[in-house]
Amino acid sequence: MESNKIIDVLIVGAGPTGTSLAIDLVRRGLDVRIIDKAPHAFQGSRAKGIQPRTLEVFDDFEVITDILSQGSLYPLLGIHLGPITIPWPMFKNKRATASTPYPNTWLIPQYTTDSALHNQLKKLGRNVDFGRKLIGFTQGLEAVVSRVSFSNGEEEIISRYLVGADGGSSEVRQQLGVNFIGSTDEQDRILIVDAITTGLSRNRWHVWPGRNGKFVGACPLPNSQLFQWMIRLAPEEEPPESLIDINRRIQSHTRNLRIVLKEMKWRSVFRPNIRLAEVYRSKRVFISGDAAHVHTPAGAQGLNTGIQDAYNLGWKLAQVLAGASDDLLDTYEMERRPIAASVLGLSTKKYNGISNLDPSSIRRGKDEQQLTLTYHGGPLASSASDRTNTLESGDRAPDAFLFDSKGKGVRLFDLFRGSHFTLIAYGNRAARDLARINWPVNGAQLKRIVVNSSWILQADYVLNDLKHTFESVYSPPDDTLILIRPDGYIAHISSSEDLNSLYNSIHKMTPNAEFSGERAGESNITNKPFSHERGYRAN
Ligand SMILES: Cc1cc2nc3c(=O)[nH]c(=O)nc-3n(C[C@H](O)[C@H](O)[C@H](O)COP(=O)(O)OP(=O)(O)OC[C@H]3O[C@@H](n4cnc5c(N)ncnc54)[C@H](O)[C@@H]3O)c2cc1C
Repeated sequence: MESNKIIDVLIVGAGPTGTSLAIDLVRRGLDVRIIDKAPHAFQGSRAKGIQPRTLEVFDDFEVITDILSQGSLYPLLGIHLGPITIPWPMFKNKRATASTPYPNTWLIPQYTTDSALHNQLKKLGRNVDFGRKLIGFTQGLEAVVSRVSFSNGEEEIISRYLVGADGGSSEVRQQLGVNFIGSTDEQDRILIVDAITTGLSRNRWHVWPGRNGKFVGACPLPNSQLFQWMIRLAPEEEPPESLIDINRRIQSHTRNLRIVLKEMKWRSVFRPNIRLAEVYRSKRVFISGDAAHVHTPAGAQGLNTGIQDAYNLGWKLAQVLAGASDDLLDTYEMERRPIAASVLGLSTKKYNGISNLDPSSIRRGKDEQQLTLTYHGGPLASSASDRTNTLESGDRAPDAFLFDSKGKGVRLFDLFRGSHFTLIAYGNRAARDLARINWPVNGAQLKRIVVNSSWILQADYVLNDLKHTFESVYSPPDDTLILIRPDGYIAHISSSEDLNSLYNSIHKMTPNAEFSGERAGESNITNKPFSHERGYRAN
């Protein structure tokens, strides 16, 4: 058995959730290992819908160019009803705006997404340790000792924290004894096949409805000759295995003998589970992604929700390792579990609607896009915060297009990119206050942005809102300070000269440090319930 030094975080599972977390932690300078029991990266197309909010995370992770170049917009659905094919828009495609640079759900197979994330991790100097399986762990006060097996031995990995991003049948969750509450309909199975296919146009996501929701679907996968086939099986049906049998099954359902699957690249039988972990944390061990929540594929939420989990947890782990209060780590479950509960409801509703041939369940809108998702009312969005005309604490900080002193255009998202917090001061007095804010030396640093101030004060960027996009998107009163968390959500809004509540907000999220005289009051995170409904705000 090999033995090692103490690392900061061991991540189990190199799917989209674990790899996103690894990227976020490594770019923050943490000592991280990521292991996966599989011998190589996942080969299937499985999750193929990337939501706009996840594209924004990919922008922050600097993988967006790869993702955009290898994917496409969704084609229209082609619903085959006997001899008639009805074109049906699943999405209303929108133009990019100043606040939302990626407004549309993006079609890209999971093997390409995983590969883009693995490549980015590699660029940051880390590789996934494939062929290494977590078989057990024990946690003490200071660290977690994990046992990992590989082809010719076992090793012990000691880490400050352990994160199970190890999928729906998570070993980490099971070893913690965490209940995975919900149901599995053993009768409901979907055969998924990636195959090179002829006799079918590539400009439609073809769907052949059947009785009792037993549909067959074929979605063209961008940058390939492949289609992702989904065949919802009848309760007692034996899933066809060989290409000949799969072709026979498809041709009999579609009544189209011209459709031929030529080469099968991946095949899997999938049972939609609808389950949510009772807790996401046990002391130094966390679960995220499918390890914490699973649901039907309807609505394209699983991978996206897993990546958002990782994005929420990453900066908090780094801050606590740098000396912030351990309470900050409790906010991961408090913020993310209600969101997952909403996603389970949304995806189940869509899935049942598809079974009942309800056309509204095929349409995708803002609920799925995850842009209106808010942590407002949660533990880090203080009720003492002010609000602007359009935004409250806990909301996503939108993009905006501003100009520097030389008249060069600057996107806010370009300035948010990285591991720091951002403080935006709008107006002269706010700019003066921004210059006075003391920031802790340890942990994530602060980027200071001044907008529309004639005073030259201490700031990283001094910008002008020449086209009024900031004004219309953020709509702040004069002299407002907006504190943005490293994961792009608004932590606090201050429109008054009293900065106490801003300091309290900073104190909850950063290592203890000497602040300037203004800091006051209690800053403990209260464990107040954050209702599921608040998780998704429909606005
Ligand atoms: C047909 C279908 C379509 C879907 N479509 C979408 C979609 O369009 N959009 C969307 O967002 N989601 C979709 N999903 C869901 C999505 O695929 C999952 O939510 C996503 O893969 C979860 O990512 P993850 O990283 O949490 O887990 P996984 O991708 O399952 O990765 C877990 C990893 O952990 C590893 N592992 C497990 N146990 C151990 C261990 N003991 N030691 C070491 N490693 C271990 C596994 O090998 C695996 O690589 C779809 C799912 C299906 C089945």
